Amino acid sequence: MAAPDCIFCKIVAGEIPAEVVYEDVCCLAFRDINPQAPTHILVIPRKHVTGLGDLEGAEASLLGNMLAAAAQVADEAGLTEPGYRVVINWNADGGMEVPHLHLHVLGGRKMSWPPG
Ligand code: AMP
Ligand code: ZN
Repeated sequence: MAAPDCIFCKIVAGEIPAEVVYEDVCCLAFRDINPQAPTHILVIPRKHVTGLGDLEGAEASLLGNMLAAAAQVADEAGLTEPGYRVVINWNADGGMEVPHLHLHVLGGRKMSWPPG
């Protein structure tokens, strides 16, 4: 289930610290260590899945749980009314750094478009 040397699997296992703001049977959410907005939270599945471009079969259903968790986390952070952004990066051109599927929940400032 966990991948060796995966930092997000280590966070799920409690082996490295994180500021966890939400958890359920499927997902965990914690604050990004290098925030790009006043609120920057990562939502990850407990199960190790590399990322969006690698999803297989039933793993795609994780995304529904993750998005529901992201909306709840954003609401609890007071972001529903002002608004927020949810992002998934995949591979080099997408800017993916950690190969364990995650959603970025960003808010607390006005987002620009197109993204950089
Ligand atoms: P990505 O570029 O989409 O793979 O995003 C990975 C994110 O994980 C980056 O925003 C990092 O700042 C964040 N990150 C890396 N290590 C940690 C950690 N130990 N705790 C919290 N966030 C982390
Ligand atoms: Zn992992």
